[in-house]
Amino acid sequence: MAEHVDGGRSAVVIGGGLAGMLAVTALLGHVDAITVVERDRYPAGRTFRKGVPQARHLHILLSGGQRALDTLLPGTVEALTAAGARSLDLPRDLITRTPTGWQRRFDERRHRTLSVTRPVLDAVVRERALRAAAGSATRVEVLEATEAVGLTGDSRQVTGVRVRSRGGSERAERALSAQLVVDASGRGSRVPQWYAALGRGAPHEETVDAGIAYATRMYRPRDPEPEVGVNIPGWPQCPRGAAYVPVEDGKWLLTLSGVRGHHPPTDEAEFTAFSATVGDPYVHELLAHAEPVSSVYGFRDTFNRRRHFERAGALPEGFLVLGDANCTFNPVYGQGMSVAALGALAVRGALDEAGGLRPGATAEAQRAVSRAVDPAWLAAVGADRPYASDGDARAGIGERVSTWYIERLTARAAIDPVVGAAFRDVFCLTAPLSRLVSPRVVLRTVLLPRRPGLAGPPVAGEPARPGTEA
Ligand SMILES: Cc1cc2nc3c(=O)[nH]c(=O)nc-3n(C[C@H](O)[C@H](O)[C@H](O)COP(=O)(O)OP(=O)(O)OC[C@H]3O[C@@H](n4cnc5c(N)ncnc54)[C@H](O)[C@@H]3O)c2cc1C
Repeated sequence: MAEHVDGGRSAVVIGGGLAGMLAVTALLGHVDAITVVERDRYPAGRTFRKGVPQARHLHILLSGGQRALDTLLPGTVEALTAAGARSLDLPRDLITRTPTGWQRRFDERRHRTLSVTRPVLDAVVRERALRAAAGSATRVEVLEATEAVGLTGDSRQVTGVRVRSRGGSERAERALSAQLVVDASGRGSRVPQWYAALGRGAPHEETVDAGIAYATRMYRPRDPEPEVGVNIPGWPQCPRGAAYVPVEDGKWLLTLSGVRGHHPPTDEAEFTAFSATVGDPYVHELLAHAEPVSSVYGFRDTFNRRRHFERAGALPEGFLVLGDANCTFNPVYGQGMSVAALGALAVRGALDEAGGLRPGATAEAQRAVSRAVDPAWLAAVGADRPYASDGDARAGIGERVSTWYIERLTARAAIDPVVGAAFRDVFCLTAPLSRLVSPRVVLRTVLLPRRPGLAGPPVAGEPARPGTEA
């Protein structure tokens, strides 16, 4: 017998992580009651929890994601800053080594990114989402330590979720019925299996796997701390990378990365040694002035994977998929959280436009989510294609051209303020991909001669220049 979440219009959100909380925000006012089903129990403080294993690793919130987050939950960026998030203006406060040399350190003031640990970010967003819910007409309940184990309904219509308590004496399965079920259970989402149990085929799935692994350790630099964060992404000739950025409380995170055959070690001494083998020794040199304050944590499943729930017939009525459950990205581009926020904003916009949860509204909302995913997906798979494994979706001609163009554009962006500004607009998710093919950007990318970047890490910044718009 299914428990009704509420007598009126109700929703169940699977996963009380970032996308889950943003889904709650997007649904406020569109349903009478929302039940969030979260497998974990939230920790008392702003600390790590098991259900978000990637939380140990460096997380940057791009400017596009910040805008979406602040539109959904006004004041959240300020609250994150008050909680200790560090603001990094690109490219001024995060110097980057590209295959052709160091990027120039323009003082653009167009893209302020936030750097903070995930436990702090998730806790701030959760507190604000639940506060917004308390002030709304929608009743929100969070069932902690409760795992979704399947969907109810049939191949055409999802009518609820089967859940099971974790811990405590009551382990029996029960069903929660709802007009809308949102899957926000992250990269481990079991939708293909849940679809199969309803008699549906799995959604079409694309993967592009650069085979990247991460290893991360937290440090406390000795006074004075480094003036800027450092990003040394890998490239085909040197497929090992490092990123060293400040987070809250005077701590810094160092994430090392490498593609297949170059995975960073989790042994502490080997980790430090690996940092000397990336494309430039600068980060390794900085470690001589910092104390490690954590163990080293590894992470391997970093593939780009997109499930096409927006395609015709791929979504039963009453179902919606958001965040990593819908699309995961190679984390080196720092896009996943921003895309979750942009997706939630798209859902809110689509439901507002449809006038609420009418038949067909969820399919329209899922298409809106897909449009929000597109720019980040094309940028990530275009850049990752040179590392893709044989089993991955094959690149079409368009994608091959975009890979060639992005490689050239990346080199030019390191030294050219016009191309650099366009590159950051797109990779920070504030402009559509078309910004990269505006006539001015194309001409400078394709026709101007190749030049190397700077020979050493730029310690002095550069003033903003007028005229960087396309
Ligand atoms: C190593 C790494 C580094 C990254 N760095 C960045 C970065 O710099 N910038 C960026 O924007 N993104 C980054 N990302 C991506 C980012 O972590 C994700 O995009 C983001 O966490 C997605 O949020 P989500 O809510 O969809 O999933 P999650 O944050 O993973 O949350 C899923 C939630 O669902 C719960 N859950 C799971 N299954 C169930 C179930 N069956 N029943 C109930 N609850 C369930 C979990 O406990 C968890 O609370 C990185 C990812 C990785 C792997």
